[in-house]
Order: sequence, then structure tokens, then C-alpha cells
Amino acid sequence: MRVALLSFHVCPWTRPGQRDAGGMNIYLRNMAASLAQRGLSVDIYTRWHTAPHDGVGLSTSGAAPTGAALAPAEGPVDHRTVSRVEISPGVRLWHIPVGPKQASKARLAQHTERFARAIIALCEKQGQSYDLVHSHYWLSGAAGLVLGRTWQVPHVATFHTLAEVKLRSRAGEREPPVRASTERQVVASSQAVVASTEHERGVLVQYYQANPGRVHVVPPGVDGVLFQAQDQRAARRTLGLDGQQLVLFVGRPEPLKGTDLLLRAVASMENRQNLKVLVVGGSASGDRQIARMRRLARKLGISQVIDFLGSVPHYQMPHYYSAADVLVMPSYYESFGLAALEAMSCGTPVVAARVGGLSTLVQDGRTGYLVSPQCPEVYAQRLEMLLVNRDLRASFGAAARQRAMGMRWSAVAQNMVSLYQDLIGQGAGDRA
Ligand code: UDP
Repeated sequence: MRVALLSFHVCPWTRPGQRDAGGMNIYLRNMAASLAQRGLSVDIYTRWHTAPHDGVGLSTSGAAPTGAALAPAEGPVDHRTVSRVEISPGVRLWHIPVGPKQASKARLAQHTERFARAIIALCEKQGQSYDLVHSHYWLSGAAGLVLGRTWQVPHVATFHTLAEVKLRSRAGEREPPVRASTERQVVASSQAVVASTEHERGVLVQYYQANPGRVHVVPPGVDGVLFQAQDQRAARRTLGLDGQQLVLFVGRPEPLKGTDLLLRAVASMENRQNLKVLVVGGSASGDRQIARMRRLARKLGISQVIDFLGSVPHYQMPHYYSAADVLVMPSYYESFGLAALEAMSCGTPVVAARVGGLSTLVQDGRTGYLVSPQCPEVYAQRLEMLLVNRDLRASFGAAARQRAMGMRWSAVAQNMVSLYQDLIGQGAGDRA
């Protein structure tokens, strides 16, 4: 089986935790590798870009990565500038020169059609064909519809986040109107939509009038070998941290992640004498949201407690989860919450908002605590309960690891392969 995965707006191999790169990157890397391990041939298509790739041991092939020139706004795409990287056995990542190399998400919608046309032309030239297209995020969804129709193969869409949910989350996020309308169109015209949780499935049915029979729940997974507990003292030594109480926050620094709630929660903790809060994600210097957080921390008088570390390469994340006493995820909304699952896999309890995917991932009073959204004082109380009670942390941590072990990528990929097979079979039946 040959599948094309689309990740138009962000290259999955760029470092997560910065700008638009986050859980979707990790999802695509792992899903693609696990599909290839099951014998599928996987090509990922993304845009060209200037961000450095986050990884070691990458082998590049095909044309060298392109120079600094921008693609022409109109006219045929020059395929001499396509670059191809083999990111894991059986997985090729194609960079397609469409649109400016550096562009905000808001400016990309106008380029999706051209992205699809460029892939079609490239595949024709190379004699490549696919049995199925799976798009990720709404921008890729628009391109996926074109590819599915042109190639006469099933198109599967995964949104990762949805405009209607973001707008209702009360985090003050704004989205271009074209996003929700495109999402609607993708939901209506795709052969299947993959949701991360039952909650997301409900949202797709309620707000997007999705046909429930076409929405399949396949939650993301975790690499249980990479993400396993290390000795806490050793992990802290590796990171140059001392023996304080450590609370960890991991995420792209955007309002939806509840960064304001995090700081207000810390400010309302009674005993901060021995406390350190590590913020992983963003750029420690020159990031607007981090600058805003620094200002709020100063205003709340907690600057000395918070360390902004910037983004960390993914393979180093297990050190942080293992060093921490607890991970806090006070998001206004989270379609899944991979950071929570990774922490759990490392045996670290999680205090999280009772929203979206987090409300099923974290088991309240067993693997961590769920907190009603937007209650900083309750976060503070829950964090304090865990910080002062080593036995509670140990028992939550053990239960968390156990739960995470039921969510490995291998099982996730198997479910996805079964879905692909059904859809390809149905497509063949329809054409017969
Ligand atoms: N991450 C990382 N380095 C960072 C910050 C985050 O590798 O500096 C990874 C983190 O380990 C997780 C992903 O980015 O795998 C974040 O996924 P999550 O679902 O928590 O958030 P999203 O970005 O999808 O909103």
C-alpha cells in the first residue's frame, strides 16, 4: 500500500515547541515510521522552508535542499528545487517549493491548490502513484480534496485542531473565517475523518455536521522506549538542575495553552520557597508570547520561580519529564495533549485542564488531577498536594506509566492500516 501524507503548513521534521511546530510533527514522524514498519510505503509532502530540521542521522537524497530563492507567485513550479529527505526507513519527506519559504499560517490558504497541483505534476513526472491520501490540518485538507479527486483515491482528513473549538475556548484566539468554511468542506467531501478522541468526534458531528459513520477515532500514541522514567536525580544532574520541587510546562507558547493560568496558579501557591517552574517551548529570547509571560511573571512577583528554557529537541524531552515532579497542562483547549502522554509514559503525574483529549487521557485521582478550566487556585492546590507527597507522586506515576503503555504507536498504526484497507476496499468496490 502506498500512502501520501500531507503536512502543508509545517514540516514535520522541524523542532516542535516553536511557532506552528508541535504535537502534529511528532504525530506524523511516528505514524509514518510505524506505517512503514507495517510494510506501507509512505511519502510525506510539506512546503519548502528555512527552519532547521530537528534531528540527527538524517540521510538526504535527491536534489540538494534549495537555495534562498522564493517560488514565483504564479506559473509552473520548478521541480529542480524539490528536495527529498529519507527521515526513517520507508518514509520519504518531500519539500515542495510553493509560496514563500517563510510565511505565517494566515497567508498560506491561497497556496493550497497550487501545492496540490505541484504534487500532481511531480508524481506524473516521477511515475509515482498512491492508494490513499491522508491530510493533516485544514490547510492540507484543502489540498487533499484536490489530490483525492484527481487520483481517484480515498482522502482521509485529520484536523488536529478545529476552528469552531478554538473560537469557543475563550483563550482569545482568532481564526480567519475561511478556516471554518474549509473545514466544513473537507468534512463533507472526504471519505473519512480521523479524530483523536471521542470528544473530537462529537465536535465534528455537532459543529460540522459530520456523518458519524465517517468519523473514526484513532488516538495518537507514544514511544514507550524513548519515553521511560530515568532516575530523577540523574535526570536533574544531566540538565544542571538542583534538588528543588520541579513543575514542568511543555508547549508552544500560545494563549490556548493557558500560559496565563499557569502563572496565576504559581502566584497563588502558598509555599514557593523551594519551587522551580520550567517552561519548555518557544524561543527563550525574541518570542512575543514568552515576552508577555515574562511581563506577567514580573507583575505577579514570581519571576525568580520561572525558568524559560525555549524549545528543546524532542529526543531530550525524556530528561525533562523525568526530572520533573509534575507536569502541568492548563490548556483552554487541547485536542489530545501529547506532552501529557509523554510525561505519563515517563511515570510523571499530570495536572491538566478537564478539556478535550486531556479529560480522557488523564485519570483524575489516579494518574494525576483534572481541573475545571480557568481556575488557577485549583491548579495551585493540586500541584501543592502532589509536590508535598512523594508516595502520592509515586503511585500516580506508576499508574500513569501503565496507562501510557496501552497507547503505543505500533497499536495506533495497526488501527490506521485497518482503516486505510477498508477505505481502499470500499473505493475499489464503488469503482467496480
Ligand atoms: N515538544 C518538543 N520540544 C519542545 C516543546 C514541545 O519536542 O520544546 C514536543 C512535545 O514533546 C510533544 C509536542 O511537542 O511531543 C507537543 O504536543 P502537544 O500535543 O502537547 O501540543 P500541540 O503542539 O500539539 O498543541
